[in-house]
Amino acid sequence: MQNPNILVVDDEGDFLETLMNRLRKRNISTIGCASGEEAVRLAKEHPFDIVILDIKMPGGMDGIETLREIKRIRPEAEVILLTGHASLETSVEGMKQGAYDYLLKPIRLEDLLEKLAQALERKGSVEHRAQSEEIRKLLQKRAG
Ligand SMILES: [Mg+2]
Repeated sequence: MQNPNILVVDDEGDFLETLMNRLRKRNISTIGCASGEEAVRLAKEHPFDIVILDIKMPGGMDGIETLREIKRIRPEAEVILLTGHASLETSVEGMKQGAYDYLLKPIRLEDLLEKLAQALERKGSVEHRAQSEEIRKLLQKRAG
């Protein structure tokens, strides 16, 4: 499949690496970074289809600020928030700020793949629908 453009943002290096590896094994390659500032810089360079964004990050820019900036630069990008129980309210705020959806950590890869498929489908172009279809096939293969 031609890969969707996906950015993964999370300040926990191990989590970021593991998630990117698990997606790569399913032929979905991503770009990753560990801070809001870096995410914004990357969003200026790449027309991402999907951004998977950790809501709780230390440093200058938290998840919500990063979300706002990304939506300003790339309004067409669908943002999936990753959140802990402690930051659930922040995720609701994120939805108001234009995030597509959120997932509770620890996330199940199947749930993330399903959200990716939904978000790509929603983008609606022939190419994005084909990518969504491919991800759905992956999910069925695992279930069956
Ligand atoms: Mg974090």
